[in-house]
Amino acid sequence: MQDQLRIGIFVCECGSNIAGSVDCDELIKFAKTLPDVVFAIKNTYTCSDPGQDEVKRSIIEHKLNRVVIASCSPRMHEPTFRKCVEEVGLNPYLMEMANIREHCSWIHLHDKKSATEKAKDIIKASYARARHLEPQTELEFPVTKRALVIGGGVAGIHSALDIANAGYQVCLVEKQPSIGGITAQLDKIYPSMD
Ligand code: SF4
Repeated sequence: MQDQLRIGIFVCECGSNIAGSVDCDELIKFAKTLPDVVFAIKNTYTCSDPGQDEVKRSIIEHKLNRVVIASCSPRMHEPTFRKCVEEVGLNPYLMEMANIREHCSWIHLHDKKSATEKAKDIIKASYARARHLEPQTELEFPVTKRALVIGGGVAGIHSALDIANAGYQVCLVEKQPSIGGITAQLDKIYPSMD
């Protein structure tokens, strides 16, 4: 059975990158209204050392067992924050990010009220997902470092070459007697007209 949820929400201002077009105080007020949210705070730069220290301190002080970080794209800092929460004993997969920068503040620069409402929705979606997160264990399995590319058209040939250039053996499979696909049937190709 799942423990009683104790969710912490951290809203990053990213300097003025987020705070310039989203009302972060309003987001904190909103976050505090969500069930099982026991702590919510904003940080100027959550990925900085002081920002991460605040996340760690809050996890310990408020016994948080789920964390939502509303900041930038997970492509940028998901590993950072997974490592951050893990350092104070929280399973790294109990941390969820809400992208209120690339998906909101950067694209709604001139309508703070609407951007703030959208950021609330983004946070609420991540919060809803965080409620269902379960601890995960990372496992490693041996893999065969060999690739199969199906289709000998331009995309297939290109993929096969890229993989081969990366140092892996590739099997390219084509159902026709020759490779080249539709491109091979064309008389001339723009812009070289070859
Ligand atoms: S966590 Fe992301 S949004 Fe926040 S300061 Fe760092 S880069 Fe900016």
